[in-house]
Amino acid sequence: MGRLLIIGAGGVGNVAAHKCAARKEVFDYICLASRTKSKCDAIKEKIKHNVGRDDIVTDQLDADDPNQVAAMIKKHNVETVLNVALPYQDLSIMKGCLMAGANYVDTANYEPPEEAKFCYKWQWDMHDDFKKAGLTALLGSGFDPGVTSVFTAYALKHEFDEIHYLDIVDANAGDHGHPFATNFNPEINIREITQRGKYWEDGQWKETDPLSVHKTFDFPSVGPKEMYLMYHEELECITKHIPTIKRARFWMTFSENYLNHLRVLQNVGMTRIDEVEYEGHKIVPLKFLKALLPDPGTLGVNYTGKTCIGCIIKGVKDGKEKTYFVYNVCDHAQCFKEVEAQAVSYTTGVPAMIGTKMIAEKTWQGPGVFNMEEFDPDPFMRDLNLYGLPWQEIRS
Ligand code: NDP
Repeated sequence: MGRLLIIGAGGVGNVAAHKCAARKEVFDYICLASRTKSKCDAIKEKIKHNVGRDDIVTDQLDADDPNQVAAMIKKHNVETVLNVALPYQDLSIMKGCLMAGANYVDTANYEPPEEAKFCYKWQWDMHDDFKKAGLTALLGSGFDPGVTSVFTAYALKHEFDEIHYLDIVDANAGDHGHPFATNFNPEINIREITQRGKYWEDGQWKETDPLSVHKTFDFPSVGPKEMYLMYHEELECITKHIPTIKRARFWMTFSENYLNHLRVLQNVGMTRIDEVEYEGHKIVPLKFLKALLPDPGTLGVNYTGKTCIGCIIKGVKDGKEKTYFVYNVCDHAQCFKEVEAQAVSYTTGVPAMIGTKMIAEKTWQGPGVFNMEEFDPDPFMRDLNLYGLPWQEIRS
């Protein structure tokens, strides 16, 4: 039986807390803590209604401070921490785990607040500390990153002798009814999308202008969509751990309406992350924009349509070339019915629960700092089918 601290009470925190609460045989004690305690209390109420569990404990902390994280771990006597706050908190929560002796799971890699740059180096540098402490840190247990790594590891185990080409494709064909909104934290989302594109080819990274490379892809259950090449964090760890990959790319769909709004916001400076002086105050335009945009956690109410995320993998099996496409389709309205969330929060929160379950049950264990593709994919793939994200395959 496991004792768990979940940090973060946004859209993803809501789903992760529901899904962990529904697995009482694994997580018999759950504390949900965040900067704003009232959001934790609201989720606790929803869990009582949707899951029928009334013993979730809530608390308040500033996870930028490792001392507060360590104190919270000790106060609630937890063995594992699931970080579904923001990437800015990754390092301080990992330090808190080391100080207090808890395992660590997150869904997005560290990103310094003052620079829109994410990479695994800072977290990989903590490998020896986690190893010495006999603790495990599991990085990137969302959908992408997360399930995409597990899909690739599963393909390597069961479908290929060698993988050569990987294309991760991510479509959200849903309609939330707002003129412009992001499906997860607006600040993190817009920082990611406005970066230069980057992909791995023939042993090196190649860069492209932001969203300049695009093509149409016919997604199962969703239909043809324009998808854009972007840099995404799992490209870094997958190409490191599966070195036979000659080319790895990440593609995400955007509507013309979304891109038009984004262009205007960029052109007028609203996506800037540096401080500007405004009437005697210093403000960061992107943080101000976040305050104006709909909270992603509230988008689910009238959301219709589906997401489709998967990996198109090419390689060799028994001397023959083959293509394997493994993917999940998720319905926004069904997610709302189950946990009062839209599908982007759902497709992140479910794998966050499964990754935490893998660590709590010691199905996956270190010690050290690990990415998802480093572990046996089979138990995770089984749990995806059991807990709300069934996957399908196409071979050619
Ligand atoms: P939200 O902005 O909705 O929620 C973030 C939560 O973290 C809020 O409750 C916020 O508190 C809390 N928080 C922020 N700073 C602190 C702090 N210093 N101390 C304590 N709590 C803090 O984000 P989402 O739920 O949309 O996203 C959560 C995470 O999931 C992000 O890291 C995101 O990158 C990741 N993600 C991963 C995906 C994947 O597939 N791997 C896909 C989508 C998201 P407050 O309410 O007070 O602001």
